[in-house]
Amino acid sequence: MPRLLLFDIDGTLMDTGGAGGASLLDAVEDVLGVSRSQLAPLDLAGATDAGVVRTLFSQTGHELADALVKQYLDRYLLRLHERLHHDSFTGRLLPGVESLLHQLKTRANADLGLLTGNVRAGADIKLQRFQLDSFFLEGAFGDDAEDRNHLGPFATRRIQAITGHTYSPEDIIVIGDTPKDIACARAIGARCLAVATGTFQAAALAHHSPWQCLEDLSETDRVCDLLLQ
Ligand SMILES: [Mg+2]
Repeated sequence: MPRLLLFDIDGTLMDTGGAGGASLLDAVEDVLGVSRSQLAPLDLAGATDAGVVRTLFSQTGHELADALVKQYLDRYLLRLHERLHHDSFTGRLLPGVESLLHQLKTRANADLGLLTGNVRAGADIKLQRFQLDSFFLEGAFGDDAEDRNHLGPFATRRIQAITGHTYSPEDIIVIGDTPKDIACARAIGARCLAVATGTFQAAALAHHSPWQCLEDLSETDRVCDLLLQ
């Protein structure tokens, strides 16, 4: 059975240089009419967009009405696209990501997917910015569930439908940069390869007992062997 490798996006594949968080706040100002300076700092590490929206709507005194949420997210996506394609964009892919994905793509025993808190359209914008969108079969996204621990089955089910493979928990590895990635892997009985390229250092991640913990993904052959052994 091939390995099912489920990648987180922010802090794992890329650093958007703050553009993601800034776009969420742009949309608060544009649609909810509240200045970012009046909001408590956002804790985005391992968060889902659905959870972030709930927090922002609550902080600004808005009900989670479908029409307003859609208006908010549409605005967020517009601002995200603008920020990611602006001259001042300072985002980057994290060390080794491009090489690792190219290497894994050539392996018949690796099926690649996403497990991210980004809404699907936001994930697409971020991946397209770095030409990474063709690497992944499918995934689970921040518009599937508010609780990251509920996302795993969405990704597994969608990718199974494409590949015809029935993955057991031991075939699945989540690659992510926060304790919430480690927890959501555990929630489906999968392993987690934690990488210290986000806001958490390796020692802090190790405290949550991931299967493996690396400083980054730069040693392509070693990471590939680890994921596929
Ligand atoms: Mg992350």
